[in-house]
Amino acid sequence: FITLDALVRNTAASKPTKIAVIDADRQIDYAAFDALIDRIAASLQASGLKPRDAISICALSSIEYAAVFLGALRAGVAVAPLAPSSTPADFAAMVKDAAAKILFMDDATVASFADAAIDPSVQRVALDGGKAGKPFAQWLALEGAKPAPVTIDPEWVFNIIYSSGTTGTPKGIIHTCWMRWRQYGQLDPLGYGPDAVTVLSTPLYSNTTLVCFNPTLAGGGTLVLMKKFDARGFLELSAKHRATHAMLVPVQYRRIMAVEDFDSFDLRSFVMKFSTSAPFGGALKADVLKRWPGGLTEYYGMTEGGGTCVLLAHEHPTKLHTVGQPAPDHDIRLIDEDGNFLTQGEIGEVVGHSPVIMQGYLNQPGKTAETFWHDASGKRYVRTGDVGRFDEDGFLELMDRKKDMIISGGFNIYPSDLEAVLTKHDDVLEAAVVAMPSEEWGETPVAFVVMKAGASVDAPGLKVWTNERVGKFQRLNDVVLVDVLPRSAIGKVLKRELRDRKLAADL
Ligand code: ATP
Ligand code: MG
Repeated sequence: FITLDALVRNTAASKPTKIAVIDADRQIDYAAFDALIDRIAASLQASGLKPRDAISICALSSIEYAAVFLGALRAGVAVAPLAPSSTPADFAAMVKDAAAKILFMDDATVASFADAAIDPSVQRVALDGGKAGKPFAQWLALEGAKPAPVTIDPEWVFNIIYSSGTTGTPKGIIHTCWMRWRQYGQLDPLGYGPDAVTVLSTPLYSNTTLVCFNPTLAGGGTLVLMKKFDARGFLELSAKHRATHAMLVPVQYRRIMAVEDFDSFDLRSFVMKFSTSAPFGGALKADVLKRWPGGLTEYYGMTEGGGTCVLLAHEHPTKLHTVGQPAPDHDIRLIDEDGNFLTQGEIGEVVGHSPVIMQGYLNQPGKTAETFWHDASGKRYVRTGDVGRFDEDGFLELMDRKKDMIISGGFNIYPSDLEAVLTKHDDVLEAAVVAMPSEEWGETPVAFVVMKAGASVDAPGLKVWTNERVGKFQRLNDVVLVDVLPRSAIGKVLKRELRDRKLAADL
């Protein structure tokens, strides 16, 4: 067991001038990065933090953000990174829930939380500028400062990641140091190592990002941070820094592949690209494989851990409609409503057992107990809330989130089936199908559709076209045209919001 900051220290000793992080026109080498981590750890101690205390951080990606993350680890302090897109109420609730003693923010994020009710005893540090609290440079211990050494216990909390809140209020997911170490232990197959240059354009608070952040630094590679994603900017940055790795969510892939002169960017340096978080259509995966050099790895999983499947798309081009096979050391099964294991081909809820399951949800024993499920022998699995089926080769086909499944007149309708049909229409850019209450059927499917520019079909026409191509019991009740689909900061479609909007409009 070795902590991530200790791996950074090793690289600082062996390759001091190797660049650790690039942040727009600034960069920092491993020696300076490690020294900054030391100063941050010393400052946390000087601010009165003890091992097993917590801090929160809510900021755009930066060198300082990355260093605070590792400085806390060096001091044995847990980090709860928070989403800048949170509501002020959720934000205050998360700072309180995490019992953060210091809140790090930057000028870009602090304005959103002016009204958040944060306990005045929480110390404030401004990572840039000075609006968010004590300026970082003043808070930071003098150059050359060293923290009192702390021996990290593998069971201590590494971070508290709040779930995306796609299906409800965010829950604080506890990752221990040991669990994180197990996750970034497997570097080789994915090509991480000293030559890795990883472009991160998803926010640092998200587990999606950390899945690439941690192994890049563990392997002594270079991180290239992008504060705000735009497709062309991503391509320019990747070409400029000769990127080898990138983590992108499906909506980002869609925008990148739609850049008109995509093919004129030199992307031959890429070794591996990653995707996770949301459904990544088979056609889009095929397009990425065809036009973008290097491998493509899709992860299916949840921040809670345990249920991870991996699709090495470049190795399995006939399995692009699946999310791949269970990750090593993962026992992934399907269960029915009564908790019986299902056999191959049957559809049920995905549950997973592995060595990297979260410790639980912070301060939520009830929700933790609901999420863990035990088989007859007492073996512990995480319930994913997702519905799927294993094909004959052991690849997982994901249907939908259980909460999104539509039960209409006793039949189960998977929104993803209807979305797949809708997006085959030449005029459709993207579509989300949502359950709406129906007196006759209990629930009925309604599609929210974003059209491409210059589309000629109208909503009733699209409804007819779709209903001709789906089963009798799957037929759409309505098609609603929208300009954009509401998405979370990490790019997930917020179906709750679509449903609530339509309900309000129908009143
Ligand atoms: P909350 O639990 O607060 O509602 P969330 O479930 O969206 O938020 P995450 O842990 O970030 O929070 O996301 C896990 C979920 O994302 C999975 O349960 C699954 O529904 C979806 N997901 C993850 N990877 C994929 C993938 N490759 N394809 C399709 N869906 C995915
Ligand atoms: Mg979830």
